[in-house]
This record gives sequence, structure tokens and C-alpha cells, in this order.
Amino acid sequence: MNLPDYLQCVEIRQLHAAMGILEIPLLPVLQPFERKIVENIVHEELDLKEVEFDRRLETSSIRVKKSELQGKPDELLTLNGRKVCAYIRDQGSSFNSELGMTTYRYHLCNCKTMQSMRDMGREGRYLATKRDDGFFEVYDKAKITPQKPTILEMELCQNCIKVLKSRGLYFYPFSLKQYFEKNDTSIPKTIRRIETVTKIQTYTPNQEDISRAYREKVNFICQECNVSCLNKPYLLHLHHINGDPSNNSRHNLQVLCIDCHSSQPLHNHMLENPAFKSQINIIRQMRVKQNLLTISSK
Ligand SMILES: [Zn+2]
Ligand SMILES: [Zn+2]
Ligand SMILES: [Zn+2]
Repeated sequence: MNLPDYLQCVEIRQLHAAMGILEIPLLPVLQPFERKIVENIVHEELDLKEVEFDRRLETSSIRVKKSELQGKPDELLTLNGRKVCAYIRDQGSSFNSELGMTTYRYHLCNCKTMQSMRDMGREGRYLATKRDDGFFEVYDKAKITPQKPTILEMELCQNCIKVLKSRGLYFYPFSLKQYFEKNDTSIPKTIRRIETVTKIQTYTPNQEDISRAYREKVNFICQECNVSCLNKPYLLHLHHINGDPSNNSRHNLQVLCIDCHSSQPLHNHMLENPAFKSQINIIRQMRVKQNLLTISSK
């Protein structure tokens, strides 16, 4: 409902003039009440790079760069958080492709053999895999042309067996499948992506919201005596000029300090409240500090 603008009415203006009121400072226009809601939406997405890495490890083998196979002496071989097995793919006289046999063995630990290979700077010959059926892709070192790998069964290194035994991780008959099941803690293959969404919600303001908003709009300054209540906003009230608290038209509202408020017509009852009385005194002290004209006490 749009109320008529009584302040434009000549009779009311004359009445105000007769009362000594030259101008009633109007409150600024309030923006519609809006609430900003910031929501974080968590998306769990498959980490395709990790998934592809696992797929390659499980079905084939990956050449490891120097020191990529982490581990102190006797630790289980680990690559990017996965327990892996290491073996030499490019073999020479060690393997007989016709018989499908090799004298090389695969490793699961940073065993003595692995350490001495590292000391000799030869760890670059190792490939990492998580293929778990006991078979390995082996290339003939002598052939230079691209070749299909020979699939060979390989045995676990004796030094690795010793390490596994000393750590209580060995079992018989040994199988890589069981070894990975027991020792490889699966790493999460998802990425958490956090999306921040800002929503604006409009809502029906209550008296408290209106009061706070208007006091903020006038920078917490009393519209009558100009005292600044920035540090004590509770000393500022929202006064309804016509006495009707349900009329929140801005023509009917004034932001007043408690002192100015209590001196409005029909507001004498405020002076009977001891808490208000001491707050009025605080306002008067604030005016002095703020070099404002002290309004004579009422
Ligand atoms: Zn070994
Ligand atoms: Zn005031
Ligand atoms: Zn009032």
C-alpha cells in the first residue's frame, strides 16, 4: 500500500512550522532486503590421470626414473603411493625366449640386490609393474628393432624373500596377487573439487532488520542531535513519528539517540526506566566528547 506523502501537505508543513520543526530529516531509501548465501558444493570427480596410471601399472610396466622407487633399505618398493614390483625388462643372455625362462628375478623390497644395483647406478634398468599373475614382459636386449615382448614367468628375488620373512610379510606359496591385496593400501582416485556458489535470497524484513538497516544507512548518527553512536549502536532507536509501530514508511521513521527519543511527544515513560536514564547520560557525555552542542537536560 502506498501511503500519501503527508510531508508534502501544506497544512502539515504549516503545522510543523508552528511547532518549530523546519525539517524532518528523512531516512534514505532502503534497498530490498537481501541475504547473500555462500555455499560450497563439493564435487567428487574421478582422477583420470591416476586411473590411467593404475591401468598401465596393472596391465603393463612403467619405466621408473632414478630414485622414483622410493624407499630406505629393506622397505617395500613404492611408486606414487602404490606398492609395486620391479624387474629388468630388457634382458640379454639371462633369458631364453625359446624355453621361456629367465634367470632374473623380480623384487618387492629395496633388498641388497636393489641397493647394489643403485650403488652401481643401474637402477634405471628396472621397470615397475603391478601385474600380479607372476608373468612379465621381457625384451631381447640384442634386438634393436621394435619387438613384441616375450611373456615370461619370473621368481621372487631371494634377498626380497629374506626381507619379507624378517618383516613377517612372507607367505607360502607366494603369490603377487595376495601380496598386493595385503600390502597395497588403495589410494583414492578421486579429486575433490569445491565450487563456491553465491545465491541472493530476498526475504521479508522484521522490525529488527529494518532498524539495523536504517541505523547503518545513517552511519549510526542521530538524525536530530548528530551524536555518533558508531561504537554504541544500541543507544540509537528507530522512532515511529506518528506513534504507529506498524507503519514502516520511511516518512514515518527517524533514527534517534535515546536522549532525543525520550524527548519525543508521549515518550516520557522512557525516563522512568533506570536503564534508559543511565544510557541518556552516556549520550550526553558522548556529545561533549564529540564537540556537539549539549542539549540542556530535560
Ligand atoms: Zn630383491
Ligand atoms: Zn540525539
Ligand atoms: Zn519513538
